[in-house]
Amino acid sequence: PIVLGIETSCDETGVGIVRGHTLLANTVASSMDEHARFGGVVPEVASRAHLEAMTPTVEGALTAAGLRFSDIDAVAVTAGPGLAGALLVGVAAAKAYALGLGVPLYGVNHLAAHVAVDQLEHGPLPKPSVALLVSGGHSSLLLVPDVAQDVISLGSTVDDAAGEAFDKVARVLGLPFPGGPHIDRAAREGSGAAVAFPRGKYDDGTLDFSFSGLKTAVARWVEAREAAGETVPVADVAASFQEAVVDVLTRKALQACARYDVKDLLIGGGVAANSRLRAMAQERCDAAGVRLRVPRPGLCTDNGAMVAALGANLVAAGVRPSTLDIPADSSLPITVVNV
Ligand code: ATP
Ligand code: MG
Ligand code: FE
Repeated sequence: PIVLGIETSCDETGVGIVRGHTLLANTVASSMDEHARFGGVVPEVASRAHLEAMTPTVEGALTAAGLRFSDIDAVAVTAGPGLAGALLVGVAAAKAYALGLGVPLYGVNHLAAHVAVDQLEHGPLPKPSVALLVSGGHSSLLLVPDVAQDVISLGSTVDDAAGEAFDKVARVLGLPFPGGPHIDRAAREGSGAAVAFPRGKYDDGTLDFSFSGLKTAVARWVEAREAAGETVPVADVAASFQEAVVDVLTRKALQACARYDVKDLLIGGGVAANSRLRAMAQERCDAAGVRLRVPRPGLCTDNGAMVAALGANLVAAGVRPSTLDIPADSSLPITVVNV
């Protein structure tokens, strides 16, 4: 079946089209330029931008796929979690398309979609897999027996998300928002061993994370240099901060694989685009005999194809479609795959 996926949980208006595990189109319009000067996404601005971008983005995806509305067999949409007003725009649009086209609607979990997207690149997800989900709002380790049916939380951050830490440290270093890609780039010129920043919850035996202590340590370190009138070695600080985050993420991900005797690790979410995370994860997976799957960077950050991918799984699994009265749920738990 051909599934149209709509994503509006944050600042990206994403529309993707898939046929089974095949990606046909992935069109993304972002309102990030409008938010950058505020140093964060402004919900009302995002909602308005989704309204303006929705119709052209859907039409752009259809054109890119060489399809017409009548070719669409099902519509999937992010029902949560995310910004309430932003989600509402996508959910309302998806209901209208499903009703107008006379096809089933699937309201899906944005976080499960970050996991499901990898099937578009590397084929069906091994069952079970462990998934490390690292994004702007979430950092979790998941046991995924079947992404269409069952996602189990093994641990998560007790304070900041990994992407949030990247964004906050970037601000401290005077790098633009969102900071993840800028830290990634700056770090290539620096040394990850330059400063020994703290690694929260490193040996605590849980599969949880903590990044706020690290963020504060970086801010203190930078403030001290500035107070002493020294120039801040931005590349070294970026690389050392990134090394600390990536060390903890990969360590706990492999602990999860070992603890649950799972041989397949998937990394998803915007932070999975990070080059150091991808490299260290590969090294540690090789050493542990674990197969690693990470989607290409364009599929890691928010997009509509991930929503369509999960929708296609639900269709294939024979899961009952959503009703046309489903709400947008800004705090939809990770364990609820579809509504
Ligand atoms: P969530 O998925 O939790 O609702 P979100 O949708 O805002 O949050 P994503 O789009 O999945 O998050 O990811 C955005 C985050 O990824 C931002 O914090 C951004 O800084 C981070 N990010 C993007 N590219 C990189 C990179 N190369 N290195 C590190 N972080 C990155
Ligand atoms: Mg985004
Ligand atoms: Fe996301």
